[in-house]
Amino acid sequence: MCEHSRRRTRVCAIALGVSVAAFSGPSCRPASDTPLPIIDAHVHTDFTGVPEPASGIADTRERFLAELARAGVVGAVAHMGLDGAGYEDLADHGVIHCVSPGPAIDLRRVEERLQAGTHRCIKIYLGYVPRFPTDSAYEPVYALARRFDVPVVFHTGDTYSADARLRYARPLAIDDIAVEHRDVDFVIAHAGYPWIQTAAEVAYKNPNVYLEASAFMLGDPRARSREWVDRYVVEPIAWIFGYVEDPTKLLFGSDWPLVDIAGYAEAYRRALPREHWRAVFHDNAVRVFRLEPRSGAARP
Ligand SMILES: [Zn+2]
Repeated sequence: MCEHSRRRTRVCAIALGVSVAAFSGPSCRPASDTPLPIIDAHVHTDFTGVPEPASGIADTRERFLAELARAGVVGAVAHMGLDGAGYEDLADHGVIHCVSPGPAIDLRRVEERLQAGTHRCIKIYLGYVPRFPTDSAYEPVYALARRFDVPVVFHTGDTYSADARLRYARPLAIDDIAVEHRDVDFVIAHAGYPWIQTAAEVAYKNPNVYLEASAFMLGDPRARSREWVDRYVVEPIAWIFGYVEDPTKLLFGSDWPLVDIAGYAEAYRRALPREHWRAVFHDNAVRVFRLEPRSGAARP
């Protein structure tokens, strides 16, 4: 396994190019022929009942469950919207939920949901809400994350709404928060896309920061040319994974219903060495989101 030391002295299976079979732990297991269990670390379960406008994907419970089955998804992390919508008990399908404090920072909502156990992580929408992660108004939210031992997920990068403010959504300021809150785990959603270099560095440098690379495109990658998908999805993910030099840092996420889960998982697989699929698609999410072991996965 990789040590958390600086780049020049880091010892890692990737850097040394040695056999992953020589390392113990879930992230360095050799590939097997058993079906790859997937945890999707970024979905939305609002189920509006109509096609999602940008992707055309039917935003229904039926379509969601069908996509989980088709892609081999055994668990997912559903993100509450800014307005507080999107909760449906889908525990039978391995779905957990992140609570959003919303634009007004509703601490009571966050505390109640975490206390009740209906929600097991916190989602903060940088950019959609014009506050930096270092805004003092978020300090009580981080305190709740520490108290309940749940990770905080930040939206970063490009925004769906043209009315959002990009400067708040750049991932650099997450470094300050990671340093000041070492006992809280943070996940940079969308890996800061298109500011992937900044996001990768923040995750590389900080032991308590992770990345997911959801929604680098909208819709189904299989509907686009392979060259286009390679350039804008596969190669950026491959670069991020290579830069952080730690297979425990990247999680799989799609951002359904903006993205077809099976098609996006295929693009993710093209970006990653096969021996690290198990870590990125499953084990890292189990650890970061404190999920119960599923499908034979051992908790590290
Ligand atoms: Zn999302």
